[in-house]
Amino acid sequence: MAVQVYFIGAGPGDTELLTIKAKNIIERADVIIYADSLVSPEVCKFARDGAEIHKSASLSLEETTDIIVSAVKQGKTVARLQSGDPAIYGAIREQMALLDEKGIEYQIIPGVSSLFAAAASLKAELTVPERAQTVIITRMDGRTPVPATENLRSLAAHRATMALFLSASLVEEVVSELIQGGYDPGTPAAVVYRASWEDELVIRTTLGDLSERVRESGIKKQALILVGKFLEHPGKGLRSKLYDKKFKHEYR
Ligand code: SAH
Repeated sequence: MAVQVYFIGAGPGDTELLTIKAKNIIERADVIIYADSLVSPEVCKFARDGAEIHKSASLSLEETTDIIVSAVKQGKTVARLQSGDPAIYGAIREQMALLDEKGIEYQIIPGVSSLFAAAASLKAELTVPERAQTVIITRMDGRTPVPATENLRSLAAHRATMALFLSASLVEEVVSELIQGGYDPGTPAAVVYRASWEDELVIRTTLGDLSERVRESGIKKQALILVGKFLEHPGKGLRSKLYDKKFKHEYR
């Protein structure tokens, strides 16, 4: 049977960052459920006339699943829009598990994560030769616990590129853990609020000054914290081997 349920990565906010595949599915969907906390209502402009549209921020997992299940029973196609890419803090696993129980097929359409929109706004490469070749995507331990083996202080020991989701309201704890874990307070840090939206805000500072700058700005959510040497100004000697004449260049 044809797939009727699509979990769609709707990108960081700017509707032009939807994939063509996402747009095509939204255009033909009978039912659209979108995470209105981080997905722009503008995505609905692609919906066909008469499509049923639900905002999911105030719905429970069960309520969302009920909408999906009843639509499927009526032979309808459902587009479930999530912010960024669904694979990063998308909470799709529990949604998929409920559909699995009911034997309902679904497909996942990847999207542009806010991490990549933030890197683009910062005009930064997350993996700069000789400075950082590893990206750690994590969050501060909060209402949703982080496994003890992944505590921020221990991850800080790598001094890699660090991207923190869901942690803007806990910036003081973030800074304290990262410094105690091994980052120098002078390490460049940035906060990108609502990357790719019209009211996007970018703060560039150092880890040591991050808490104060974030407090001044009033940013508490919808922001990413990025830390690491990748944010340093480009200098000499940082050319990627990819452009080295002696390097085989099949990945160029
Ligand atoms: N799946 C999403 C993340 C969802 S979790 C993605 O791939 O981007 C929600 C967190 O993502 C927020 O707390 C914030 O840290 C981050 N986030 C989502 N959209 C954002 C945006 N446009 N700008 C900055 N951070 C964003």
